[in-house]
Amino acid sequence: MSETLTRTICIKLDVGGNEAALAETQQQFNAAATWIATVCWEERITNTNTAHHRVYGETRARFGLGAQLSVCARAKAMEAIKATKTQESERKARWRKEHARRRDKGKKALPPPEPATCPQFGPRSSIRYDARTYRLLALDRVSLNTLRGRIACRLLPGKWQHDMLVDPTWEIGGAELVWRRGVYSLHVAQTRSAPAHASPEDGAAIGIDLGLVHIATDSSGEHFTGAPVRKARSRYVARRAALQRVGTKAAKRRLKQMSGRERRYMKDINHRIAKSLVHKAVVSRKALALEDLTGIRDATMVRREHRYERHCWAFFQLRLFLAYKAAWAGVEVRLVDPAYTSQTCSRCGYCAASNRQSQSSFLCQQCGFCCHADYNAAVNISLVARQAANGSSGTSLATSPRASAGGS
Ligand SMILES: [Zn+2]
Repeated sequence: MSETLTRTICIKLDVGGNEAALAETQQQFNAAATWIATVCWEERITNTNTAHHRVYGETRARFGLGAQLSVCARAKAMEAIKATKTQESERKARWRKEHARRRDKGKKALPPPEPATCPQFGPRSSIRYDARTYRLLALDRVSLNTLRGRIACRLLPGKWQHDMLVDPTWEIGGAELVWRRGVYSLHVAQTRSAPAHASPEDGAAIGIDLGLVHIATDSSGEHFTGAPVRKARSRYVARRAALQRVGTKAAKRRLKQMSGRERRYMKDINHRIAKSLVHKAVVSRKALALEDLTGIRDATMVRREHRYERHCWAFFQLRLFLAYKAAWAGVEVRLVDPAYTSQTCSRCGYCAASNRQSQSSFLCQQCGFCCHADYNAAVNISLVARQAANGSSGTSLATSPRASAGGS
């Protein structure tokens, strides 16, 4: 059972004299998708088959779309509805939690979130193409289905994109025709099954502790970029606050630009950290181990960093990148119970809150072992992961004999 990897290649398109045919198709396609979404939304249809029978004939008649494009419009509409509903239920869940919290503290009630509205698509929104509505041809050309029949356009891939496109280990899937500021591009999806992980024989794993001061620390003691990111962060925070005070239209535009820049900056950092950690796992033939934050509730036991970590998109992104790059490289990722990883001595196993001297320093009250707190946590994570792999005990320090017996 191996995972499927996906990637998307975005290639500029030279549409030649086919601009009008594409624009017209785009408009009808999206009008159709909007109509389908409205019908399915109002009639509460979520099943693909039911939707197909309900809208197929009428889509073709009303919007003049061919059989295949009608099917693609329905797929686009249904996916958008599904995504909207998922977001809505997540919003509601967050609200319920916050509502309960405020009620317990006797604070003012929070108004419930606005109900989601049916997704709509603009006339310049993308056209979905599946395997039957487009075809990649020789000499970097692509044949696309339109209202005026099939047309051929020229793809303008760079060398990098071209190599990805012809790589036989990847299977080509659907594509999305995207129009942005007068330029068409084709976003081609590719899939491949992930290589099987090579599970290390002794269950060895590199433990990774994620944190605010150092974004990541591994159990070999390496820290990954803390200071430059913090510096950039505080610069962004200060500038953002200044712009928010200004509050003019131009300031708002600047804010938007800045949030994009900050995101791209963090994304790049996360890519690099994930890449070097996965590389380390590959060359040392170990698994990677992270704390599993999905199960923990608002218990008081939760470290403050964890509370932040669970809500911060940058950490979430780093976890995604790690999982993805690891799957890509055939590295196993293990999630371990985060309980006590920061309070337990990684040398003797003594567990006490007082072991944690401060944000950064760890000093064992029993054996006197002293080190960076993030490093200590990372070592604990790797130990728990190894125990779990060898089946000698549970996946948590709390239930492990090390925590009480001491000495290892
Ligand atoms: Zn100790």
